[in-house]
Amino acid sequence: MSAKLEVRDSRIYGRGCYALARFPARKKIALYAGETVCGERRIERRLRDQEPDIKVIRLDDDLAIDGAVGGDATAYINHSCAPNAFMRIVPGDKVAFFALRDIEPGEEITVNYRDPDHPPVCRCGAANCRSRPRRRKPSPIKRA
Ligand SMILES: [Zn+2]
Repeated sequence: MSAKLEVRDSRIYGRGCYALARFPARKKIALYAGETVCGERRIERRLRDQEPDIKVIRLDDDLAIDGAVGGDATAYINHSCAPNAFMRIVPGDKVAFFALRDIEPGEEITVNYRDPDHPPVCRCGAANCRSRPRRRKPSPIKRA
């Protein structure tokens, strides 16, 4: 497990993954640790079993990595609608997290998982959060 990350309580959801070091923009933060799961039905079953605390990251229909088995701090990386990191599939069928911008020690690492179902309600607090209630505009006052 990386000495540059730690798990502690998150304001977004449950526990989160925090930077202990500085990660400059575009630098690799860590690989996603966990068991490789092959086969669509096995992946679907794990997704159901873990609901709502999903630690399965899908590379494609038949291939996923399950951070709930053999995972580390990266399994606690939460979703944010305004993330500071992003994921990429890297050689060897692994998933890696990279800094989207400079990340300072003490910041929670977040990515946009782009899954409309997870988390069902987002509490990231971003101005563009997909769970933010839409403000109804007052209807315009008509001139006499
Ligand atoms: Zn959000």
